[in-house]
Amino acid sequence: MSLTIRRVQKYLKEKYKRTKPENMRNTQRYFLKLIEEVGELAEVIRKGKRMENNNIKGTIEEELSDVLYYVCMIANTYDIDLEDCFKMKEEFNRIRYGHTLRIDEIQEDD
Ligand SMILES: [Mg+2]
Repeated sequence: MSLTIRRVQKYLKEKYKRTKPENMRNTQRYFLKLIEEVGELAEVIRKGKRMENNNIKGTIEEELSDVLYYVCMIANTYDIDLEDCFKMKEEFNRIRYGHTLRIDEIQEDD
């Protein structure tokens, strides 16, 4: 089963409903966590730390996942569907910058 942004958001919503329901609407908390993770990402990018042998700890792969996690958490606090928003924003940019490729032209296995 492929992992979509929508599925990640749904998973995180369910996970927090079960474990920390009191934090589900705490946008400020997740925004600050996002900034922390962006800082960690900056450090591993500067150090050029890539994942090897499936060891994700302290790598660019780990910190990018953390950043995505908190972007999704912030979206969830507003009940924002990031897949819909991303499609809308890319269509806006396509027209604005004169690109020809539409996001719906891309197949999952491309
Ligand atoms: Mg991290």
